[in-house]
Amino acid sequence: MLQVITSIEDIKQRIKTFKENQLSIGFVPTMGALHEGHLSLVRQARKENDKAVVSIFVNPLQFGINEDFTRYPKMFDNDCELLSKEDVDIVFNPKAAEMYPNGFCTSVIMEHLEDKLCGKSRPGHFRGVAAVVLKLFNLVKPDAAYFGQKDFQQTVVIKSMVADLNLDVNIKVLPTIRDKEGLALSSRNAYLSETEKNDALCLYKALIKAQTMANAGAKNAREITAEMEEIINNCKSAKIDYISIVNPETLEAVSEVQHGDVDALAVRIGKTRLIDNIILFFLLAVMWLSSYS
Ligand code: AMP
Repeated sequence: MLQVITSIEDIKQRIKTFKENQLSIGFVPTMGALHEGHLSLVRQARKENDKAVVSIFVNPLQFGINEDFTRYPKMFDNDCELLSKEDVDIVFNPKAAEMYPNGFCTSVIMEHLEDKLCGKSRPGHFRGVAAVVLKLFNLVKPDAAYFGQKDFQQTVVIKSMVADLNLDVNIKVLPTIRDKEGLALSSRNAYLSETEKNDALCLYKALIKAQTMANAGAKNAREITAEMEEIINNCKSAKIDYISIVNPETLEAVSEVQHGDVDALAVRIGKTRLIDNIILFFLLAVMWLSSYS
């Protein structure tokens, strides 16, 4: 039965009893307004652990001043219903005032990772993400934590923090869940009108174009991103923030694309900023690798 916990003291107590009983904990941090993307992580956490804990917390630290913090969609009752159906044990829904009391001043700085891709137009965002995830890890003490590839830079930041600070948690990254037309599911899709939803498909179309070019042997990153730009610029309501093909560990832009590089983009559709990415693969490399496995 799903238990809703809102206070830090209560979550600590509950986790303590799980630990005393040697129960493994799978954890999914979220900002709520849950959809099938979140639920894919929840299901995996449920499957692989004795206890499944989900946090719902719209983290003020990761929003810039002109961003959508105050209007971020909130659907707590519906979220709890969904989590209950997935047999989740605990939803942790703390108040910002308890997470960040007066005097809170600690930050996690991710040098070389936070100023790339989304970090350029969202300064401070990844510090906010890293700080809240570290706090949540300290409270929930998960054996494994589950993240979506949709927020690729976030997964790199979290993995680096876990490695750099020797955190004892296994980070699992699961594939992006899309609607039947290819649009990556996102809580922010709720801001889109029907026309904008249709326009938003240009992100996926551009990524598919990139993969098609890679399949045909294209390796020049500039050539690939130029084709992607054209697809997106053809859509009137779209405004490109960035399109970049990067090394999956350093997030440095590459000029010659290699198997496993990540093609990432952020595009505004009207007022809504959407992100998406794919891991580019080269068929020859896949065939070569599979012949050795
Ligand atoms: P959010 O509530 O947006 O902070 O997302 C919480 C977690 O769900 C993050 O690890 C996201 O990467 C993941 N997530 C969001 N959308 C998707 C999606 N379409 N597919 C898979 N995971 C997702």
